[in-house]
Amino acid sequence: MIPVSLLILALTRPPAPAPPLAIVHATVVPMDAERTLERYTILVQDGRIAWLGPDSSAEIPSEARVIDATAKWVLPGLADMHVHSGAGDFPAFVANGVTTIREMNGAGEHLELRNAVREGRVLGPSMIVTGPLIAGEEQRWRHAMARTPDDGRALVAEQARLGFDAVKIYDGLTRETYDAIVEASAAAGIQFVGHVPRGVGLERVLESGQRSIEHAGQIAHAVASTDSAALAEVGRRIARSGAWVTPTLASEEALSRRGTPWFAERLARPEVMLVDPGLVDWWRSLGEGMPETAAAERRRAYREGTAALVRALLDAGVPLLAGTDTPNPLMIPGFSLHEELAALVAAGLTPYEAIRGATAEAGRFADMEAEFGTIRVGARADLVLTDADPLADVSSLARPTAVVLRGEWLPRERLDGLLGEALAEVGAESR
Ligand SMILES: [Zn+2]
Repeated sequence: MIPVSLLILALTRPPAPAPPLAIVHATVVPMDAERTLERYTILVQDGRIAWLGPDSSAEIPSEARVIDATAKWVLPGLADMHVHSGAGDFPAFVANGVTTIREMNGAGEHLELRNAVREGRVLGPSMIVTGPLIAGEEQRWRHAMARTPDDGRALVAEQARLGFDAVKIYDGLTRETYDAIVEASAAAGIQFVGHVPRGVGLERVLESGQRSIEHAGQIAHAVASTDSAALAEVGRRIARSGAWVTPTLASEEALSRRGTPWFAERLARPEVMLVDPGLVDWWRSLGEGMPETAAAERRRAYREGTAALVRALLDAGVPLLAGTDTPNPLMIPGFSLHEELAALVAAGLTPYEAIRGATAEAGRFADMEAEFGTIRVGARADLVLTDADPLADVSSLARPTAVVLRGEWLPRERLDGLLGEALAEVGAESR
């Protein structure tokens, strides 16, 4: 790994105000409802959407750069609501239209990056950053340990003071420690999100006001039933609690398919070259020596458990967030969000419902609807342009023809340039 400070340096540029942008003749998909606005103009100024309306009533400033978006669809920039990332991942996020990320195991470097992006010093997605995950037992990755209620209270107070956006609940917490974290979070005015610790259970998580539950598998495990009536009931309970669920379906599906030709084919894709070789070795090792029968069993468990649960959540009206859990196996920054959208559609969501989880629901979840998630006047100018209708097929989002990031116009050539530079960085690191 090269130090994050060097990566920041590579991506850093002086904050320069982008010239006004006029995107004309577009088919706008605002994502505030299932609708498209034909022959529309979007004016972007100072990094914000300054005006939105029909071409016929647009007044375009003379100094504006005009983009003819005839036969293009324009959507809000996408949000990956569950990532573990660093600055080195930013080019891949941006090149895939991911303009917001929620970092789920934050550290000081993420707070620095969040501020640098906000101030225009670094080209990257806007960030929501949870504190280091709070666990009750030792983990393989970075974590903060809370063995007692006092530990929990102290960690919440510290994370709130440092400026994290939320507290991340993790495995192994006891009921008493969880309750202390809940109480301390309310006192500090910070949200708490995350897993369903076994010692706490789904009932308590739902009544505590936990803002999001991560991984459909966490819920499936707590329910321990694939009976459709049981799944429908848990859907109703979660809907009543007001919690959002981030199913991380693509990640769970990839894990369910390790050891299969499907998994091997994904490992051979060119974008895997963007990933740190050490991580790819770990991904590869997961499938080795796995008997076919075990793979088939895991595949069945995924379909009948996780994917069926997500359909039940949707039917019950539970708001869903699109999250990838990158860099879990095969989850490549940016690229994997398109896998997640496809997995949500395969589980029964319409394209509109799936894309909502990466746009409007993300903004609503973060209490930042005025800022991102829909195309509206005053919002951050984060946009994605496509050549085909994403409401007919989410895969048309997978290689955007252009991205607008905080008002900056990034056409496909520029996005490919960013990917090329990122590839060179990975190559230099592994030599
Ligand atoms: Zn995660």
